[in-house]
Amino acid sequence: MASAFGHAAAAFTASRFFPKFLMQKRVIFLGVASSIMPDIDVLAFKYGIPYEDLWGHRGITHSIFFAVLWSVALVYLFHSKSKSENKRNLFIFYFLATASHAILDSFTTGGAGVAFFAPFDNERYFAPWRVIKVSPINASRFFSEWGLRVLASEAKYIGIPCLALWGIAKSYKMAKGK
Ligand SMILES: [Zn+2]
Repeated sequence: MASAFGHAAAAFTASRFFPKFLMQKRVIFLGVASSIMPDIDVLAFKYGIPYEDLWGHRGITHSIFFAVLWSVALVYLFHSKSKSENKRNLFIFYFLATASHAILDSFTTGGAGVAFFAPFDNERYFAPWRVIKVSPINASRFFSEWGLRVLASEAKYIGIPCLALWGIAKSYKMAKGK
């Protein structure tokens, strides 16, 4: 995992690309929760499920398939009365927020790769550049020098790209007059 801060920053950044009226607090909250949610699979360690298993850490909950199902479920549960165009945009937002998690994980320096294509292919993948310092799985270990090094690395490799994307989103919206 990257840290919860790194994942949340990605979800916030994704929200900038959508019309303001759609991105209500509740929606952003769900997006941020979605960006952290895939790590629910660390519970697997508790039950003795090995890392490389489909149900192991960075397995099925980190897949594109899961991101689609999860986003459909959120739209169905929270936005069933929205117009279809809004539903489509909300789906895309939740999907990006959820999928950003696995993408960031694939850039980290530790752990196994990410099962992007599970359950169809349980191969684990990494990005070509592994630059983000991996965050400890045990939260208590985050409050240590390791945590500080993670934050410094995320500021550089997540924070700066996110700021650049915010800038792009802003100028795009200004150009479109939204
Ligand atoms: Zn993860």
